[in-house]
Order: sequence, then C-alpha cells, then structure tokens
Amino acid sequence: MKNNIKFCASCFKTVQGKGLCEICQNQARDKSLLCVVEKEQDLEALENTGKYLGLYFILGGNVSKLRPKDIEELRINELKDRLKNKNVEEVILALNPTTEGESTCLYLERELKPFNQKVTRLGRGLPLGGEMEYADEETLSSALEGRK
Ligand SMILES: [Zn+2]
Repeated sequence: MKNNIKFCASCFKTVQGKGLCEICQNQARDKSLLCVVEKEQDLEALENTGKYLGLYFILGGNVSKLRPKDIEELRINELKDRLKNKNVEEVILALNPTTEGESTCLYLERELKPFNQKVTRLGRGLPLGGEMEYADEETLSSALEGRK
C-alpha cells in the first residue's frame, strides 16, 4: 500500500489523507520553535517525552559525506522554504549523535546561517553513536532542555 502514503505538507510526517498532520494543525503548538529530525521515529520519540511543544521538520535522513547526490536526498530546500514563510525563531537540530548526524548538523548550520534564526542543538546526554529513537524519555527530555 506504499502508494497511499502521504506526507504532511509542512513537516513531512506521514498522514492519512491530505493536508497537515495533527501536530501541524494543533493551534496550541508553539510555531516559533522548529525541531529538525532525521526521520519520523525520532519525531515520535520526542513526542513521547511530552516536553516539546513546538513544531517539527523531518529531513529524511543524514549525510555522512557531503556529496551533492546525498544532499539532494534531504529536504534541504523544503526546510529553507519553511524558514522563509513561517515565523520560526529557533531551529533545533535534533539529529542523531552519530558521525553522520554531526556532519549533517554542520552542513545545516552553514546553510541556515543566512536566515538569521537562532540555531540550537540538543544538549549532551544522548549516548554518542546512539540513535535518538532508542533513547529513554528522560534522557531525551534533558537533552531538549539542555539545548544550546
Ligand atoms: Zn505536520
């Protein structure tokens, strides 16, 4: 049923039907915060903490080497469009604490500089080389709170 998979027009989370996902539609979410994650599982992990009330953006992966071909597979242009059109004040890079996540962060920090938004990263505490989706809620919550 792969053909029926649709993505939220704003954060690229999978949705049933068309339009925006329930998170993007939720008026109570803080639209000034945008958390960039590699994949939907990471979004779910952060949602499960109940501590994050901003919005998300699913990048669609990471890049280990900054080859144009790899970069093309990420939603970099979509992310830039999002930053142009919405009132985002802080971009939180919540990528996995792996070598790939690290080089993707560096790349994004450089690419997002012209937008003049505050760009932060999750604080330490996530196990190095680990995957966010397997981190426990407490670890994720404190990484969120300790972002800088
Ligand atoms: Zn969404």
